[in-house]
This record gives sequence, C-alpha cells and structure tokens, in this order.
Amino acid sequence: MELYNKSASELSKMLRAKEVSAVEIADSVYKRIENVDDKVGAYLETNYEKAIKMAKKADEMIAEGKGTVMTGIPVAVKDNICVKGYKATCASKMLENFEPPYNAFVTENLIKAGAVITGKVNMDEFAMGSSTENSALKRTANPHDLSRVPGGSSGGSAAAVAAREAIVSLGSDTGGSIRQPASFCGVVGLKPTYSSVSRYGLVAFASSLDQIGPIGKTVADTAALYSVIAGKDSMDSTSLEANFNLSLASGGSLSGVKIGIPKQYFGDGVSAKVKELVMNAAKTLESAGATLVNVDLPGTDYALSAYYIISCAEASSNLSRYDGVKYGYRAENPKSLEELFVRSRSEGFGDEVKRRIMLGTFVLSSGYYDAYYKKAKLFQQKLKEEFKTAFRSCDMLLTPTSPDVAFRIGEIEDPLKMYASDICTVTVNLAGLPAVSVPVEGTKDNMPVGMQFIGKPFADAEILRVAGIYEDLIGGFKTQVKF
Ligand code: GLN
Repeated sequence: MELYNKSASELSKMLRAKEVSAVEIADSVYKRIENVDDKVGAYLETNYEKAIKMAKKADEMIAEGKGTVMTGIPVAVKDNICVKGYKATCASKMLENFEPPYNAFVTENLIKAGAVITGKVNMDEFAMGSSTENSALKRTANPHDLSRVPGGSSGGSAAAVAAREAIVSLGSDTGGSIRQPASFCGVVGLKPTYSSVSRYGLVAFASSLDQIGPIGKTVADTAALYSVIAGKDSMDSTSLEANFNLSLASGGSLSGVKIGIPKQYFGDGVSAKVKELVMNAAKTLESAGATLVNVDLPGTDYALSAYYIISCAEASSNLSRYDGVKYGYRAENPKSLEELFVRSRSEGFGDEVKRRIMLGTFVLSSGYYDAYYKKAKLFQQKLKEEFKTAFRSCDMLLTPTSPDVAFRIGEIEDPLKMYASDICTVTVNLAGLPAVSVPVEGTKDNMPVGMQFIGKPFADAEILRVAGIYEDLIGGFKTQVKF
C-alpha cells in the first residue's frame, strides 16, 4: 500500500520503528497531490521545499527520541488559518495576496509537534458556505464523484484527506464547516468544544461560534491531531484548558453508555435513506451494549434562523476591518476616501459575503436590534438549556450530520436552500458543544453518509471514544475513492 493511503496511526508506528522516514512520507503525499489535484482541486498553495524541510526536522526529532503522535505526519491547513511563509487568502479576492506575518496557535503547535504542513486548502470565501462553491479562487470537487461538491466551508480540507492528498487536515467550524464536508467526503471531522482550541491566527468569521478542528480518515487520527492543537492560549481570551487525554479517546466498552436520539433531527427535511442508515448505526451501537433513549429538543426548528442572525451580525463587525487601507484588496484610483472604502469592499468581497454583511448590519441596526439580534441571543440561551436537560437522560446524542449526501456542483442556487443544509449542525455551535461526524455503514447513491455524535461540554474524548468503537464494529470505514 502506498504511504499516502495509510493512516496517521500506522505511519506514526512505522516512523518510530524506523521502517520509513518522514521525508519518504512527504514525498509520497506530494506525488499524490501532483497526480490527482488537477481533478480534485483541494489545494490553493503547496510548497514542496518547505514540506521536505519540515519532514527533515521530523526525522531528526524521531532520531533523538522526541517523536510524538503527529511527528512526520502530513497535514493540510485550511486557508483561513495563518501559517508564516504561506498566504492566508480565505479564498477571497480581498486577501488574495495577503501573507500573514505570524503563525496561528495551532500552527505553532503543529510545528512543535514535528508535523509536516503540506500546504493551504480551499474553502468557501471567509468560511461562508456549505459547498466550497463560494471560493473566489478555485473549484473543488468531491473525490467520490467529481460532479459533486465536497461540502463546505472546509471543502478543501475534507477533499484532501478523502483523496489521500494529505494524511489529516485542519478545518474550521462555525455552523458545520468541518462536520458537513467530512460527511460528504466520507471522512471523520471533529468540531471541538468552544474555547478548547485557540482562535489566535484564525481569520474571524463569527468569533463566538468559530472553532478550529481536525479531520482524518479514522477516529484515532482525528483524535491524535486534536491532542496536538487543543490547549489554553493567552492570546485568545476565550481559550480554556481542554484537558484532553488522548488515551481516554479510545478503548473501553459501550456498556452504560446512553445515546439520545432527538426526533427533531430525523424530520421531513432529512432524506429517508440517510435516516435509515443512521438508525441502523444506532442499532449497531445498541447491540454492542449502548442504550438508546428518545430525547426532545424542540428548539431545533428555530436554530437556523438564530444561527444566521448571530453569525451574520458578528461577521458584519469582523469584516469591517477590510477597508482597502490597512491590508488586503485596494481599489485603484479612488476619487475620495469614501470611494476607496466603498469600491475596495464592493470589488473585493464576493456576493455571499456581501449578503451576510448586509444581513448582519441590518439585524444590529437600531430599531431592529431588539427584534432580531436580541431575540436570537435569547433563543441561544434557551437552546443551551434544552441541551442541558437532554443530557440529564443521556451521555451523548446521535443525529445525521447533513440532511442528504453531497449535491451536484451548481445544483443549489437559492441561498436559503443552501442554508438549510446546515440544519443538523448549527445547534452545536450555538450551544458551544463538541460533535464528531463519522461515516456510517452503507451509502446513498454511492455517496458516503455521515452521522454526528454530540457531546457534553469538554466531552470531546468521550464522543471520539464511542465513534471509534463504532468504527471498529463495522470493521473500519470503507469509503474509498476510485482513483
Ligand atoms: N455553512 C454554514 C455557513 O454558511 C457554516 C459555515 C461554517 O461553519 N464556517 O455559515
């Protein structure tokens, strides 16, 4: 088996046993990128020399006995996370030539751990979208069917792992952007508990909801990458110590584990086949010792509206910094300062970004603030309470990740229909909870289907543990691309 096909756990073992070098692994992944990325379009920027340099450092660390789980493992990084020496375009014309002068907290951690950064991957512009079609710079295809979208906004991160163009990757999740593309591409994606991964060096979309998280082919790989990026950082005032213990993220049994099935996530909007496959998975867990309980989360129906009010409000404020003066795109030959602002923003941002800035500005404007923003924040409080109540009768929840499998490129043109594809994921961000998407056994239209385990705050290890048991029960995830 080619090295690029292996999991991080397998490669890490081989590295420690000196059966392979980090340079050989990086080489294999780079050859794969050269062979398939013109089809998939996951990467916005690669740099072979830089990757080999990092791989050599990893080999030195291993030789000195300093290697850990991620040493020598190739990681692709979403293009809204700062990596010094690479651009951070956010797939926007606004930042097309922007090179950050510093590393994100997670990047620093990857470097310290001896991971090998393969490059920067595509996304929806400023992480706004569910298909990566909003990228102003590139089209990315789903590696399982090139006529379909990879999901979004971390479409490049999920596609790169599924197509074996990276061993693992980093994405960001504000309303589902790690979990939904993971489910569309048949890989694993974790949205960590809010505050457990520092947002320092992540270009802000909606700061109270944004979290960076890991994507991998297996649960163990996803957990390993998470163990390296989690942790308290004084540069992010919302950051807390996650106390994530990697050894607790695997093993054990399902006996005594109560899994809640919220009926609101299995409504009419969700494809019948997706519901059937997720319920089959629930029964598999039940036969292996878990207990299934029905829970009620009546607020779910209002979550999408609240999410799009809160996230747009925060985005309108966060994106006000792109004014054509400090950095980013600047309009040519403006006749006044005001024209410089207006034209730089009008020409630099894409349609979806502009739509959200306008929506966000509207819901925050005096006269409408109480009716929209304040109400949405009150609802968010109620939703948190509902989850708290649900967790009195179960340890975690199980739901579909997305109402359907990956749709065709160009198929969804109505923004409201696109927003509806986030129906199962946005609640988790509003409540600040951890959730992991894993592929279920079976496919729909030959495409992978994902299910999501939602945990209590800081129970990231526990949901990963149960997801890993499911992976073992079905003999490992089998969704492989055809090329
Ligand atoms: N699809 C959602 C949106 O468009 C989620 C985006 C995200 O999580 N970054 O806002």
